Amino acid sequence: MQEIRIERTQHPRPKPVDESKLGFGNIFSDHMFLMNYDEGQGWHDPRIVPYGPIELEPSAMCLHYGQSVFEGMKAYRTKDNRILLFRPEKNMARLNVSNDRLCIPLIDEEFAKEAIAKLVDVDRDWVPHAEGASLYIRPFIIGIDPHVGVHPAHHLLFVVICSPSGAYYPEGLDPVRIYVEKNYVRAVRGGMGFTKTAGNYAASLKAQDEAEKQHYTQVLWLDGVERKYIEEVGTMNVFFKIGDEVVTPELQGSILSGITRMSAIELMRSWGMNVSERRISIQEVADASKEGRLEEAFGTGTAAVISPIGELKWGDDIMKINDGKIGPLSQKLYDTLTGIQWGNLPDPMGWTYEVK
Ligand SMILES: *Cc1c(COP(=O)(O)O)cnc(C)c1O
Repeated sequence: MQEIRIERTQHPRPKPVDESKLGFGNIFSDHMFLMNYDEGQGWHDPRIVPYGPIELEPSAMCLHYGQSVFEGMKAYRTKDNRILLFRPEKNMARLNVSNDRLCIPLIDEEFAKEAIAKLVDVDRDWVPHAEGASLYIRPFIIGIDPHVGVHPAHHLLFVVICSPSGAYYPEGLDPVRIYVEKNYVRAVRGGMGFTKTAGNYAASLKAQDEAEKQHYTQVLWLDGVERKYIEEVGTMNVFFKIGDEVVTPELQGSILSGITRMSAIELMRSWGMNVSERRISIQEVADASKEGRLEEAFGTGTAAVISPIGELKWGDDIMKINDGKIGPLSQKLYDTLTGIQWGNLPDPMGWTYEVK
């Protein structure tokens, strides 16, 4: 494996004192990881250096054609001051899935995981102490050829930055109100919906903005072809508990394969629950709601872990779910996942990875 050069900052910045005011993604730790790719040389020169601006040519390809992928993961501080990552190998595998789709040279997953662990170790003091707070880790890769022409980049940069972030729910899990989007779509099969690439999020802004104007927190996306089948909600995967069945849309190419989704499915199956990954239409959800069988709905993602849904608005149809309160399954999943992530519960599946 390549040696990672480490250049420590001469000007360490003060750590945030009041961790209750961190918010999400606002401040960054002292160091970042960089590694270059140049055709003929492969990935080379891995280094941990002081956090700061990176220099790009205005012609850098990523700025024009969006050849850019990213990941989102967290480091958690346990009560006995160990630092844990949650299934980091899954993030690295997904990064390579995104890389492949966007003609970005694949990375060595094991090496990238070790590099991220090393960066977190160097910035260990930046992992928050407050309950529910964590260090959000953002790896990303951009094509940087100074060339205004559409082709896969020959020169790329892999960057990892870290942001101490506050508890997502400082006042406990509060169900969100969701707007079912009828006009805009996020992705279609054959496109890039299954990757974490910048353009997917640019495509989602307008709908999100309009939903917020109507006082909804997030958008629920329907499929791009028939606008009938449920895909995901905002930047989370989505689950519905209808009677005894827990349903989540199958991974068919236009939705992201969330690591929280995967973990929630594995947990529920280990509890003996009936979980289906299948096509589900918004009409089916509306019917279940009318018949009183829609017991719970929730989103899953690294940022919020579990986000209970209290209301869905689909045209004139307003579906209230569990009286707008969090349901027992959402609460149990939240407690179990966060318990494992923060080292407060046993980890029988071996999901955590200690940064040493
Ligand atoms: C990141 C993301 C998710 C959730 O993935 P996790 O691995 O659980 O964090 C779901 N949908 C979209 C569109 C995302 O970008």
